Amino acid sequence: MTGLVLKDLKKRFGGTQVIRGVDLAIEDGEFVVFVGPSGCGKSTLLRMISGLEDITSGELYIGDRLVNDVQAAKRGVAMVFQSYALYPHLNVRDNMGFGLKVRKVPAAERERRVNEAAATLKLDALLHRYPRELSGGQRQRVAIGRAIVGNPDVFLFDEPLSNLDAELRVHMRSEIASLHKRLSTTMVYVTHDQIEAMTLADKIVVLRDGLIEQVGSPRELYERPGNLFVAQFIGSPK
Ligand code: ADP
Ligand code: MG
Repeated sequence: MTGLVLKDLKKRFGGTQVIRGVDLAIEDGEFVVFVGPSGCGKSTLLRMISGLEDITSGELYIGDRLVNDVQAAKRGVAMVFQSYALYPHLNVRDNMGFGLKVRKVPAAERERRVNEAAATLKLDALLHRYPRELSGGQRQRVAIGRAIVGNPDVFLFDEPLSNLDAELRVHMRSEIASLHKRLSTTMVYVTHDQIEAMTLADKIVVLRDGLIEQVGSPRELYERPGNLFVAQFIGSPK
């Protein structure tokens, strides 16, 4: 069971409280999307879940384990960033296998998992290429592949498609949807794109200024936004 529970989570940077008390339950296998304006705390909240940012107060459970003091590598989560964060000097195969190598997974097992992820993401023909030889969409696919090979309990995505052009974004969106369908892994996904949120989410969390403004299915938020702020994000397409 790898749902998540956030209990009164808070984060302070110096004198500024940027996450101000977030309570949220995420079910095992659920696709949850965080939306909200720039600076409202989406990335910070995701980084707190991943362990890249420590928790000022409150409790975070992944599965039934309290992970406040568990280091990032031991939380069973994998994060995919907007900027891909690939190693420029490693080819696709080695980029995807890097984390496994660090964890001392034997070469044969590494090979098997990289090949499996490459097949899933249609990267088989690109395994020998270097990041500079790939398109934006291919790079992002490698970044997702790198997350997959670690076999995480939870995937975290921070605006993974926002560097891609519109056409590729639509394509990658459906790839992520089918990945979720295939793996049934819990996914938490940050975006400022309302169409992405509406099409991917089982549940949308609208954040505003470090607090949850409203939580609901895309349909609930679309049909019954609690206020104008929520309606602006989720409301009828322009
Ligand atoms: P979002 O991802 O929703 O755009 P962020 O989580 O990146 O928002 O940022 C939330 C707030 O926290 C912003 O006001 C930002 O300036 C501040 N913040 C983020 N990271 C840091 C940091 N390392 N030090 C100080 N302030 C930060
Ligand atoms: Mg952000």
